[in-house]
Amino acid sequence: MRKLLFQNFFRGPLTERAPALDEAAVEELATALQRAARRRLGRSLSIREIDAGSCNGCELEIHALSNAYYDVERFGIRFVASPRHADVLLVTGPVTKNMSDALERTYRATPDPKWVIALGDCARDGGCFAGSYAVVGGVSQIVPVDLHIPGCPPPPVTILQGLLSLLDRTAKNVAST
Ligand code: SF4
Repeated sequence: MRKLLFQNFFRGPLTERAPALDEAAVEELATALQRAARRRLGRSLSIREIDAGSCNGCELEIHALSNAYYDVERFGIRFVASPRHADVLLVTGPVTKNMSDALERTYRATPDPKWVIALGDCARDGGCFAGSYAVVGGVSQIVPVDLHIPGCPPPPVTILQGLLSLLDRTAKNVAST
């Protein structure tokens, strides 16, 4: 027991160091996203997150967007509780059989214009859960997907970049019609 206490006293932390954060880059990205939302929608961007069967790793990164560091709400990017108030459905995980109906109904409940983002490797094609008896597959098997953000899980900055590229792309599509 004494030996164990002694070892623990001198052993370094087992956790990894957090990566260096670039506040200026986050602010620039979030501001660009805020401007793109105002141009495209005339107001702030509202996001409804749907966990269709994720391991929760992707949710940890999404939640980080609302923490004290990223605090994306200060740029008018809001997570909403109801699909009726959403512009973007941010879907994580492989779609499980138990969630496929709920995902489809949530999609139908979201007013147009709306966009669907499949977030994380599992959302593309089931990822490491593909082939499971409980999994239907990727998000596009159930609802149309406008953008896939890769990663397992994608970090907050990658999520912001994905949202920005989606708004930029849809703005260009509107301009060219
Ligand atoms: S992509 Fe990775 S973190 Fe996200 S749900 Fe799948 S296994 Fe979990």
